[in-house]
Formats: sequence, structure tokens, C-alpha cells
Amino acid sequence: MALQLHDSLTRSLQTVKPSHPDGVYRFYNCGPTVYAAAHIGNFRSFVVNDIIRRMLEVEFGADKVRHVRNLTDVDDKTIRRAREENRSLGDVTTEWTAKFHADCEALNCLPPHVEPAATDHIPEQVNMIQVLMDKGNAYRAADGSVYFKVSSFDNYGRLSRVKERELKAGSALEAGNTGKDTLSVDADEKEDGTDFALWKAWKKEDGEVKWTGPDGAAEGRPGWHIECSAMSKKHLGETIDLHTGGVDLLFPHHENEIAQSECCNGIEFAHHWYHSEHLLVDGKKMSKSLGNLYTLDQLKEMGHSPMALRYVLLAGHPRKQLNFMLSSLEAAEKALQTLRAFRTAIDGQAGDDAQFDPVFAAMRDDLNTPGALGALFSIIKQGSANVDAASFDRVMFALGLDLTPPAEETTVIPANITELADQRWAAKQAKDWDTADSLRDEITAAGWTMKDRKDGYDLEPVASRQ
Ligand code: AMP
Ligand code: ZN
Repeated sequence: MALQLHDSLTRSLQTVKPSHPDGVYRFYNCGPTVYAAAHIGNFRSFVVNDIIRRMLEVEFGADKVRHVRNLTDVDDKTIRRAREENRSLGDVTTEWTAKFHADCEALNCLPPHVEPAATDHIPEQVNMIQVLMDKGNAYRAADGSVYFKVSSFDNYGRLSRVKERELKAGSALEAGNTGKDTLSVDADEKEDGTDFALWKAWKKEDGEVKWTGPDGAAEGRPGWHIECSAMSKKHLGETIDLHTGGVDLLFPHHENEIAQSECCNGIEFAHHWYHSEHLLVDGKKMSKSLGNLYTLDQLKEMGHSPMALRYVLLAGHPRKQLNFMLSSLEAAEKALQTLRAFRTAIDGQAGDDAQFDPVFAAMRDDLNTPGALGALFSIIKQGSANVDAASFDRVMFALGLDLTPPAEETTVIPANITELADQRWAAKQAKDWDTADSLRDEITAAGWTMKDRKDGYDLEPVASRQ
């Protein structure tokens, strides 16, 4: 069976296949907004996309997949964060991009082949906007912003099936969405409430963030939607095979991307649209605005491994909502131990490589990851005799489960802290309590806890230090 994925456009399962003569499958995944640590809900979407990437490699071979995942490094949120922290935009986005990469690596997500940043593609975005203006699909507003004229694109709403009536309340819909550009949607400037910004004229709050816009437009910055249209075109061409993101991106973001790209290029934008479902907490979407989130660091501080989180995410069907519970991480850790022990038991063994077909069959059936794990564990239950180690490793690759035991964290204690601790220990032996106390305060202020034993002491980082 070939790999099939749900397609949001046709609302049906579609077989995945490359459409370009070079046989390279072109895959674009909307990436993170880099203004804070991504939460584990965000990572649900990136882990699901990593599974897609891996299954595409299983299907077509690693050299026949081109995976692009962008960085949204200019939008309302990133600009606001920079302003609040009195830092430059680049400073903020560089910091959070590095954090995002570290978390992706910990979760064993393969890096995309290209990771374009929106601020590195301003000319490409301006060019697209210019074409849209020249073709009559976009217009300049009084303040020098440029808007896309939704009524100029007959197919608008095909993906999300938004009805005309809902569209009329477009701003309300947009505000209820996790759109990255909700703040400066300025309804007064638009000819129609459904139109959306392609280019936003500079405002005082934008500080130093501004570029030269299309002809006749004010200096300013691109809207969020055009960023993805331009980066996808630049790195994958005018028509791509698959475009993905979380369900909240379906409208308006992806609907708007289709409108911009198809009007500009005059050709179909993406053959296939896939959307993964949300991670919930107590029945509500995990989100920064609700404050009900966990980051990977928080889970690590509680003693959970990133691989356990990946396992928990795999245990839910990617297109069904998943309610996150901390207790599920413990069960996941046990499952990983079982997998590790099994891998050790089959080491060096060869056997029938069709044994794991049911696992791959579940994966090919719209990424049924819980089904795949079920099939895997029923094979494990039958015992390790004659199980083919190389085939087992292929299953681990497809699921992205790294079975290397988590390394014991080795804490490096800085020399000045050891020195202070030695001094405090000596003061304590000399019963100079004042000096000992003030040295302890110094050590604590530097982020370390000194725990005394009978014959010496231990130094530990204060838990909240990271
Ligand atoms: P953002 O950085 O806000 O653009 O989000 C990055 C990705 O995370 C997008 O594909 C969102 O659809 C997705 N996302 C946001 N919240 C959740 C959630 N609670 N569960 C799953 N995916 C989410
Ligand atoms: Zn996007």
C-alpha cells in the first residue's frame, strides 16, 4: 500500500506522489514564530510533520524529498516582544530560533532541508505583492498599506469552506484565530472587511523594523500570509506537492496563501493540504494566550525525557485532538524501556523483514501512529526469536524513536562556585557562622544550592535556574 494522507481540500484520503518529473517530493510545513519558547502543543505539529518527512523518505528515498519549514521572524508578536524587552528584532528571533532548534533536536525531529526566514525574503515578498497589484488583485490603502482584494479570487474559501456570510465577519474570525497579524489589521483602511494585509505601512510601534515596499506603498513590513507564499515559491517552485500545518492555520492563513500564490503565479499552489489536530489541556487548546502550556524544559525539570514526550504525541492519532496528561509520560517511559530491552535482545539477529508490515501499513494509512504502536507491541509480545534487527530499526526511524538511553546529566560546577563552597566549608569547620552564612547567600545568588553532609558537601543547581 502506498502512503495516504488526509487532504483538507478534498476532505478525503489521497495517495501521496511527486508531481514533478524529477521525482522529488516538495513539502512545505509552516514553521514557528520565534518570539518565545514553543510549547509542547506547537511541538505536536512539528513531530507530526517529522513523521510525514520520515514516511516520505521511506516511500521515495531520502534524496527524493525536499522539506522546507520556515521561520516567522517578523510579525506583530515578534515586534511586540522586541519592543517590550527593548531589544532588536534580530536579537529576539535569533535567541528563540536557537531554542527551537535545540528542542527539535531533543525530540529527534530531522532538520528541514531548507529553513528560510521571512526577513531574508523581503524582496521576494515585495515582488509578489507588486505582481498582485499589477494584476488588480491587490490595492494600496490611504496609509500606504497594501491589501489583497478577496473578491478578485473566485476560489476564495475552497479550502476552509468559509461561507460568504462568515467571510463578511472576516475580522472577527481572524481575531479568534491564532493569526500572527491580528493587532494591526486596520479595518478602516480596507475596501472590504474580508480583505487582508499583504504589506503593512510602518507604525511607530514597529520601531526600526521597516523595509521599502512595492511601488507606491509606504515603507513597512510584509503581512504574515505573504511570507509563506514567497518562501514556498522561492525554495520549492510555484506548485508544491504538500503543504501542512496545525488546524488553526487552515483559515485564514492557508486560505490566504492559496489566494496570493494562485493569483500571482496563475497556477495551482499545492496539490495536497494536511492539517494536524491540537494538543489540549483539560479540554482546551494548549496556547500561550490561555497560559495552559508546558514547554519541553518544564517537562525536563520534572524529570521527563523528550523521547517520552515524543512517544506520548505518537500515541494519539495526529488528526484527532489529544488531551495531554503528565501521567502519560510515565507510561511512555516504560514503553521506551520495553523497546530498548527488545532492541538489545534482537541485536545482530536477522529474520523475515515482512514482520513489521502491519506497522508500516498503519503508518501508510493516514499516519495512524497509535495503530502502528499497537502493531509493534503485538509483535514484541510474541517474543524476540527470529525478529529482524534491521527491520526493527527501520520502524524506529519511521517513528523517530531514538532508543539511546537518556544520558545522565553531568553538571559542570564552575570553579568560582567550588572556591566559595570550599571557603564556606572551612568557615563552618571554624564555627564562623556569619561568614559561612554570607558565603551560602553568595552561592545561592549564583544559582547553586550547597547541601552539607557529615564529611563534606554537595553542590546542585537551583531547580529554577534554567
Ligand atoms: P506558531 O508558532 O504559533 O505559528 O505555531 C506553530 C505550529 O503549532 C502551527 O502549525 C500551529 O498550528 C501549531 N499549534 C499551535 N498550538 C497548538 C496546539 N495546542 N496543538 C497542536 N498544534 C498547535
Ligand atoms: Zn505559513
